[in-house]
Amino acid sequence: MALELLEEKLNTGTSILNISHHEIYSKGIKFLLLDVDGTLIPRGEINVHIDIKTWIEEAKKYFMIHLISNNPSKKRIKSIAEQLDLSYTYKANKPSKKKIEEYILKSNAITNEVAIIGDRIFTDILAGNRVGIYTILVKPVKSNGEVNNNYKLVNIERKIAKFIGVITK
Ligand SMILES: [Mg+2]
Repeated sequence: MALELLEEKLNTGTSILNISHHEIYSKGIKFLLLDVDGTLIPRGEINVHIDIKTWIEEAKKYFMIHLISNNPSKKRIKSIAEQLDLSYTYKANKPSKKKIEEYILKSNAITNEVAIIGDRIFTDILAGNRVGIYTILVKPVKSNGEVNNNYKLVNIERKIAKFIGVITK
């Protein structure tokens, strides 16, 4: 696996709430694919935080938005999509490219107009890079809407990515 496939185009170092819609829009992005668990809501939580709802409402002024989740529970992802009034894909099987490519085709989008925002390197970022869309890595949110800085998984993922890179060279 080429190491570049694991490298996000933009590492926000913070949660989705701190992303400037205008900054992303100014890169030519018109379609946003959003990961759900971690990125918009902590795993296991049911209600989307008001700050996330507000961010999404503002984002709708700039982008076509679609939720793309690996979660196998249609019930859960549908409920979250309904709270945000968004279309969704559950069981997306990222890092598989399939569901992303299907969405791009269906939306008549051009690859470089599409971005994915997610909190995981080995699913969200890898899937996005394999398709060739813009990839944005965020930190997960806590139930109070604040950034979860205690999230170690991505750090571990990054170490593994570097390790793989060293091995394959
Ligand atoms: Mg996630």
